[in-house]
Formats: sequence, C-alpha cells, structure tokens
Amino acid sequence: MATNRTFTMIKPDAVAEGHTGSITKLIEEAGFRIVALRKTRLTPDRAGEFYAVHRERGFYPDLVRYMASGAIVPMILEKENAVADFRKLIGATNPANAEAGTIRQLFAKSIEANAIHGSDSDENAAVEGNFFFAATEQF
Ligand code: GDP
Repeated sequence: MATNRTFTMIKPDAVAEGHTGSITKLIEEAGFRIVALRKTRLTPDRAGEFYAVHRERGFYPDLVRYMASGAIVPMILEKENAVADFRKLIGATNPANAEAGTIRQLFAKSIEANAIHGSDSDENAAVEGNFFFAATEQF
C-alpha cells in the first residue's frame, strides 16, 4: 500500500557541525511535516542492525563506525509522494554527484559522511521509522 511517509536521519557529521537547524528548515520549506523527531546516538550494534542490508559491502565496518561516532537526529516525515520527493531533496549518495541545492550538495563531506539518510521505498520507510519511534511518539 502506498504511504505518504518517509524516514530520515541527520548523520553524525552534520549534527556535529551544527547543521541540524538548517537542514530541518530546508525539509519543512520543501513541504514535509515532521511526524516524529529525536536527538540520539546509535551503538555500533544498532548501527550495524540499521545498515544490515549492506553487511557484505567493503565499506560496512567503516559505515557502522561512522554512524555510531556521534549524535544523530532521526525523523519521520509526511508529504504526498514522500519517499521519492525526499530522495530528490537530499540528492545523490556521493555529494560530488549531488545536484545544486540538494541537502547533500550543501552539507555532505564525502560519500560516507553524506549528512543525511533517506528511505528508498515505502516498505523501508515504515521499517526504519519503527526502528526509532514507537507509535505513541508519531504525531
Ligand atoms: P543512500 O541510499 O543514498 O544512503 O545510499 P546507500 O544505501 O547505497 O548507502 C548507505 C550509506 O552507506 C550511504 O548513505 C553512505 O553513508 C554509505 N556509503 C555508500 N556507498 C559508500 C562507499 O562506496 N563508501 C563508503 N565509505 N560509504 C558508502
């Protein structure tokens, strides 16, 4: 079933550098409503679980270490066509290929420390949102 929600998290590099407010502002100005939001930190085990789909990739140990290296800001967002529109707003995985004005082009430092996550399907948006937020925390 189609959904109008997606999941995002501002990653450790962008939180540490004080971009949380700027990024959240861009998200709201693009028409997304914040359904849930928190500042938290992943343990290496939880980071590994979140990115389990990539566990066979060479970059997985580095990715897990990076994602557990500092605070993150997970959010559930709502908008028509949320998953696809949000992927457009954040831009390509590698900021070198991200279009001008996208969040990754503006704030990412590298293909790994790329400032922000965005779910790639409605199914993953639901799984990832529930990974961080109970139903009672979603408004
Ligand atoms: P996304 O959907 O655009 O986030 O990209 P992927 O699902 O392919 O990758 C998940 C995350 O792993 C990315 O957002 C990056 O943080 C990291 N990543 C992806 N590709 C690479 C890579 O080639 N090297 C490193 N070090 N990290 C990567």
